[in-house]
Amino acid sequence: MAGLTGQHWLQPDWDPGLTIAHLSLAHFTALGLKAAVLDVDRTLLPGRDVTLPDPVRVWLVDAGRRMKLHLFSNNPSKTRIAAVADQLGVSFTCGAGKPRRGALRRVVADLDCPPAEIAMVGDRLFTDVLCGNRLGLYTVLVRPVQADGRPSRHDRVQRLERSVARWMGASPA
Ligand SMILES: [Mg+2]
Repeated sequence: MAGLTGQHWLQPDWDPGLTIAHLSLAHFTALGLKAAVLDVDRTLLPGRDVTLPDPVRVWLVDAGRRMKLHLFSNNPSKTRIAAVADQLGVSFTCGAGKPRRGALRRVVADLDCPPAEIAMVGDRLFTDVLCGNRLGLYTVLVRPVQADGRPSRHDRVQRLERSVARWMGASPA
């Protein structure tokens, strides 16, 4: 199950084992990435709250100075995703239907950058990473975040998805 480049569909381009709050923005800049499409639930914030953890907010403000940002969530609640996006003043998609490509194609067209210059950041291999890889974005797998910005210990879903991806021939850590 490999993409056009020979990379496995379930293999993120970058898998640093960190939450989004601790990703080096210099890494994105060095790669020439102009935009980032960001998952919301468990990537930017835990639980049902809509208040961003401070370390995540700081990262997003800094990231927004360097790249165009777009929140891209499978969550059907427009109220919830809009509440997060409005805190940052960025555009968003809810009910995105990842890993299907339709909504992401529209976002890529709106961002007006080549897919290879757009990062896709999320905590799920079978939605975020798979969807981004299918369209040739630079995919980043992050650890699910907890309220203080550090990795959540409740990451059974990600560990299960890593196991299944390995079984399917990908080699995420
Ligand atoms: Mg998520």
